Amino acid sequence: MPRPAKIKKNNNKKEKEAVPAKKRKSFSRLRGMKDVLFDEYRYWDLVKSKAIDLARTYGFKRLDTPILEPADMYERTTGETSDIVTKEMYAFVDKGGEKVALRPEATPSLVRAYIEHGMFNFPQPIKMLWLGPLFRHDKPQAGRYRQFSQIDLEMFGEESPVADAQLILLAYNFFKELQIDVQVQINSIGCKECRKEYSNKLIAFYKERGKRAKLCPDCNKRLAKNPLRLLDCKEEKCVEVRTDAPQIVDYLCDDCKNHFTKVLEYLDELDIPYNLNTYLVRGLDYYTRTVFEIWPMDGEESRQTALGAGGRYDDLVEFMGGRPTPACGFALGVERVISKVKEKNIPLKQEDENVIFIAQLGDQARRKVFGLFEELRRSGFNVRQAFTKDSLKAQLEEANRVGAKFSLILGQKEILDGTMLIRDMESGIQEVIDYKKIRQELEKRLNNENKK
Ligand SMILES: [Zn+2]
Ligand SMILES: [Zn+2]
Repeated sequence: MPRPAKIKKNNNKKEKEAVPAKKRKSFSRLRGMKDVLFDEYRYWDLVKSKAIDLARTYGFKRLDTPILEPADMYERTTGETSDIVTKEMYAFVDKGGEKVALRPEATPSLVRAYIEHGMFNFPQPIKMLWLGPLFRHDKPQAGRYRQFSQIDLEMFGEESPVADAQLILLAYNFFKELQIDVQVQINSIGCKECRKEYSNKLIAFYKERGKRAKLCPDCNKRLAKNPLRLLDCKEEKCVEVRTDAPQIVDYLCDDCKNHFTKVLEYLDELDIPYNLNTYLVRGLDYYTRTVFEIWPMDGEESRQTALGAGGRYDDLVEFMGGRPTPACGFALGVERVISKVKEKNIPLKQEDENVIFIAQLGDQARRKVFGLFEELRRSGFNVRQAFTKDSLKAQLEEANRVGAKFSLILGQKEILDGTMLIRDMESGIQEVIDYKKIRQELEKRLNNENKK
């Protein structure tokens, strides 16, 4: 049907507006930020609940920390030379003159909390589950946001390689149960002592004739301060140069070597596929010994696509003013995991099972079904309604939209008869039932449904 050519003219142009035009302003999200809308949120629920269930099974307990923290906490821990701190941190001076930062990662806050609440007095290990938003003023690109979310698991007070292996197992199971095939990339970067010798060897290697000129400007700067970082630079020329670089596994002290061997033995035992990746060093200052990343098996196997990462940080608690406490942990990027889940078309759990829709016709019926709705809801039925709508057609459309199995319909006639109509939404067949026996009738029908 063609639309009417003329829409009713509004002759009275000076009709009063609630907000004068010059005061109106529309707003958009900040760059690199996103809203998570209804359908998308179902993926968030899936990923979060999977992590929470799994973490609980392994004895992790949930905690939360503030979004705003002292900026120098990250400068000192994450690293003054790290990209996160130098380029990406949202840091500013607050109204009290204090330099604060929107947390760019979770671990420093969790270590702070461990120390601040005297958790070393509790039975060890302390196993933490944390999830929430983080902020990095990164270059916005596909799949990366300036506000993003992580799930973090941290374990304090456990030195044994079993802890490292258990964390990796947990991460691996998380992906396996979401039907995402992953591979663990793993390396050891040793302890303070053995790393020092290795760093010197690495600097010497890069200073050999002609090599420095080939490195990217960032790596040239990093060479003196943080030579290990040169190994995981993504620039093509740097990747080329590193081919013959000395490998840290050859320089690990006996304790570090022993620890790493045990971790790998456990992974073998648990049948977890891993790749010994000698270039993996992680970009943060605080790691010691085991470092790992979780890569998807398919697609570009580049670091860009790591779905999760973690490692051991045995010196960090002491460095932040606590007692010497071994610790390790890992983080999963929620947005990246969700995009994998979507890519794989993994079916989401049907939340809306056995939906009963309640429809009404007329004011009297509407008043009556308000009570019925509450009664059925409290009895555990999965009820829906559209009481603001008057027409039965519109209500039944809504019933279809929410995937209702049955609709209960109450009109003037039914009120007089003490009955109600029950409509099978699939077949469209309607029957009259006794208003007082609605509950029994629903139970009977849903039971038959489930037996099918
Ligand atoms: Zn060592
Ligand atoms: Zn480089």
